[in-house]
Amino acid sequence: MILTKTEKLELTKEEMLDYGYKVVDSIVAHFDTQNEKFPVATASRKEMDSLFKDEVPEKPTDANEVLDFVLQKVMTQSNVVSHPKSYSFVPGPSNFISAMGDSLASGFNIFSGGWAASPAAAQMEIVATNWLLKLYGFPIKRGGGIFTSGGSMANFTAVATARKVKCGDDFSKAVIYLSDQAHSSNIKAIRVLGFSKEQIRIIPTDSEFKIGINKLKNAIAKDKLEGLQPFCFIASAGTTNTGTVDPLNELAAICKKEKIWFHIDAAYGGAAILAKNGKQLLKGIEKADSITVDPHKWFFQPYEIGCLLVRNHKSLSGTFTEKPEYLRDIEGNESEINFYDHGIELTRRFRALKFYMSIKTFGLKAFRKAITYNIKLAEETEEYFRKSDKWEVVSPATLAIINFRYNPIGKNLNEKQLDKINQLISEKVVLSRKALLVTTILNKQVVLRMCLINPRTTMEDVKSTLQLCEQFAQE
Ligand SMILES: *Cc1c(COP(=O)(O)O)cnc(C)c1O
Repeated sequence: MILTKTEKLELTKEEMLDYGYKVVDSIVAHFDTQNEKFPVATASRKEMDSLFKDEVPEKPTDANEVLDFVLQKVMTQSNVVSHPKSYSFVPGPSNFISAMGDSLASGFNIFSGGWAASPAAAQMEIVATNWLLKLYGFPIKRGGGIFTSGGSMANFTAVATARKVKCGDDFSKAVIYLSDQAHSSNIKAIRVLGFSKEQIRIIPTDSEFKIGINKLKNAIAKDKLEGLQPFCFIASAGTTNTGTVDPLNELAAICKKEKIWFHIDAAYGGAAILAKNGKQLLKGIEKADSITVDPHKWFFQPYEIGCLLVRNHKSLSGTFTEKPEYLRDIEGNESEINFYDHGIELTRRFRALKFYMSIKTFGLKAFRKAITYNIKLAEETEEYFRKSDKWEVVSPATLAIINFRYNPIGKNLNEKQLDKINQLISEKVVLSRKALLVTTILNKQVVLRMCLINPRTTMEDVKSTLQLCEQFAQE
């Protein structure tokens, strides 16, 4: 049987060049014009249904026809998460070098699972995670790290590791603690790992959204009295709602005393270690057993790249190593790390590449400056609110997040009216597609939230967005 070129899924060299240039041109055009695009996509299921109405095609379609369809109809129907006016959730201010790094990783299809398959990819992951270990004050030799698809997977890997180290195989009496502001991915990980509701303690936070230390201590003491095994505590270093950092030093002391695994979820906030005042806020992070950071947030990487760092690399290999017969020939020696032994995934894409290339190209100093700028921008935004008689600050600028609401002085709106008007402002802004600004709930109030981690967002962008909000509020 002889296959045709198409049946081997091949293109000629000229076709590949033509196609590739078109793809690169479109990515460059996107970077060049993204500030002028609408940050919000609003298509309904019905509209999307009519866009992709095709059955699986048996016959080929012209390559350029498919590409044109994708460029014109698909890539245009998503939020532009790196737009300067994309303020909601945690934005994704990516960078071009890393996007090209990802293209190379896919283009060369590097298998980043084991040393033998790709020594340079494994070494680059060791080097890049060592950079991070050093930044967070973890021991380089003993410490370890692994790139994951994102923060959710890093938190999952952390809880699995904590459980293995602290409980072995019997976790029937194990109890895990986290605050009511901890990210939902932690609870998801805990549930998926098979813990029951009775094994999870959600500790209330105080008026500053920090975990109540005494409430945590009491919960641990009570569980011990009942013969249960407190094994893990998950702190937040930059909660998603307000950017709040839990009191890490105090928590480290409690965990040490109680021999509890101390995991810090610093998925979005961890990057602030690169700014002077951020580093101050994150003091104590170096005392964790494990840290989640999410380079596809404030390290300006394209999706997907998360990272778990551990104080002792053996905790990862001790949790995730299986020795199947079909991998015996590539086991190698111990210094040659097989990342498939350090996490869930066997086949892994080459995530370290984009991280390495962008930091090497721009220099860490550029990242430091960008992150410092973002923290300052949020503080300036807070000042703007404080000076205004229309806006109220609900939680102060912390790690580039600020929560606020429209509450004009003299209008004496009640809580219900305030909730309604702020909800409506958000809905109208989103509907206008000029900015992505959605609400969250704090202290049972509907509030607006900005996460200002995009270095291309200016104070002018913020002001014009708020003026748009004021205009909608008048209506
Ligand atoms: C975003 C976030 C996560 C989840 O990370 P993903 O990359 O979206 O999976 C976890 N924790 C915190 C604090 C986050 O901000």
